[in-house]
Amino acid sequence: MNLSGCQRPVGLSRGKAKVCCYSGWYYCQSCHQDNSFLIPARLLRNWDTSKHKVSKQAKEFLEFVYEEPLLDVQQLNPCLYEHCEPLSTVLRLRQRLQSLRAYLFSCRATVAEDLRRRIFPREYLLQHIHLYSMADLQQVIDGKLAPFLSKVIKFASSHVFSCSLCREKGFICELCQNGQVIYPFQESATKRCGGCGAVFHTECRQKAQPCPRCVRRELHHKRPSSFWSPDDDSPGCFHVPYQDT
Ligand SMILES: [Zn+2]
Ligand SMILES: [Zn+2]
Ligand SMILES: [Zn+2]
Ligand SMILES: [Zn+2]
Repeated sequence: MNLSGCQRPVGLSRGKAKVCCYSGWYYCQSCHQDNSFLIPARLLRNWDTSKHKVSKQAKEFLEFVYEEPLLDVQQLNPCLYEHCEPLSTVLRLRQRLQSLRAYLFSCRATVAEDLRRRIFPREYLLQHIHLYSMADLQQVIDGKLAPFLSKVIKFASSHVFSCSLCREKGFICELCQNGQVIYPFQESATKRCGGCGAVFHTECRQKAQPCPRCVRRELHHKRPSSFWSPDDDSPGCFHVPYQDT
């Protein structure tokens, strides 16, 4: 009956065995003291945010890994993004931050350092956007991660808007060519093409399907190269390398 490894017998006369919700094993009363914990598997399977009773051994383990970014939501249960509103909100924020990171990390060293410091020690939040620690997920449950990320976004985007170096890495909407510099992290105002990485105004893009740049590339590949002017693919701005999320 006692699968926990300790030698104390459990049973009707010796005290009731207690099940650990993390391991599913039974423990005696001294190995299981009713500590409650968020269970990673239950949380990721169906966003079960309640705490469940675990053995001492499981508690120690869960505490040990609490702040380690070990859980990849995209890999473990991508459907969760569709069903869990707070998590999909955080995903959008992390996508914006990932895009902002590309700007700040290619700006002056002090700027990159400032961003790093604000997110320290959780740099994976910007870089590996599907990765979470249990502590992060608890913050999603408590509604604390989104405001934290929003604050970092506010800092990073106001840097880009006011920095001449970053400005050079912005985009000009090729569809309206109104000269305004736009950026992929402007979530509602701009739209990035998944095919070529070009950035357009959301409105302009909605009116132009398919993406003109992709179409041009397609044609370019089909025709002899001499047929096409070599500069045609460049809208006059340097591009931050497109990062697939
Ligand atoms: Zn025991
Ligand atoms: Zn800059
Ligand atoms: Zn436009
Ligand atoms: Zn495109």
